[in-house]
Amino acid sequence: GNDLRTSIDITFEEAAFGAEKVVNVSKAVRCETCEGSGAKPGTQPQPCSECGGRGEVSYQQGFFAITRPCPRCNGSGQVITSPCSACGGSGQTRKRSQIAVKIPPGVDTGQRLKLAGEGEAGERGGPSGDLYVVINILPHEFFTRDEFDVICEVPITFVQAVLGAEIDVPTLEGKVKMKIPGGTQSHKIFRLKSKGLAKLGSYGRGDQLVRVIVEVPTKVSSEQKDVLKQFEAMNTKASNPMHHNFFEKLKNFFG
Ligand SMILES: [Zn+2]
Ligand SMILES: [Zn+2]
Repeated sequence: GNDLRTSIDITFEEAAFGAEKVVNVSKAVRCETCEGSGAKPGTQPQPCSECGGRGEVSYQQGFFAITRPCPRCNGSGQVITSPCSACGGSGQTRKRSQIAVKIPPGVDTGQRLKLAGEGEAGERGGPSGDLYVVINILPHEFFTRDEFDVICEVPITFVQAVLGAEIDVPTLEGKVKMKIPGGTQSHKIFRLKSKGLAKLGSYGRGDQLVRVIVEVPTKVSSEQKDVLKQFEAMNTKASNPMHHNFFEKLKNFFG
């Protein structure tokens, strides 16, 4: 029988930990009335008169004998004289089937799971094809991934970045507290060991990478502005070395 292909939407968590899911597929299954033979119950397929039941016919072309599948019986050697009324003689009916799919932990979008024998039934009781289920992971509120690592961006205030802070960080297993040291630059990545996805085909788990994004305030009150101006007036080379070094170099460069 033919192979079938379907897709399944799963959550980020299901991809991380694995899941038991069900897919609905419409597929050809063996006709129950004739048990796949295509012949009306109580009757038998008859040997094909065209090929004498051999399934192939030969004819002479010049010096050569050419053999090809019999056109009347399509090479089966048998013809159905009284076709099954349930399937019209094909031996198959279409049916919507619910098929259980075991999602292994660590799968990624675009990967295919092969379910052997869950494709379409073979003709006249032949072997079934396979079913391929293509994985599609739905977007997550907080997470993206890089192979088996979970990536999570967390906005922090610039005061938290300067003074250090303890922040809440989402992980696959819920919220955890994470310490940010004082003087943390924007886009710095902190690694939470083994908080990532299961390594499919290997052992252990990936990590979670927490990228902190320092948010520059966009709307500030006049009160906040006053405090910031005071703060800026106390700006020194010790507190902003990158800034001071850059503008010193610039001054020396152009004079
Ligand atoms: Zn039938
Ligand atoms: Zn034939």
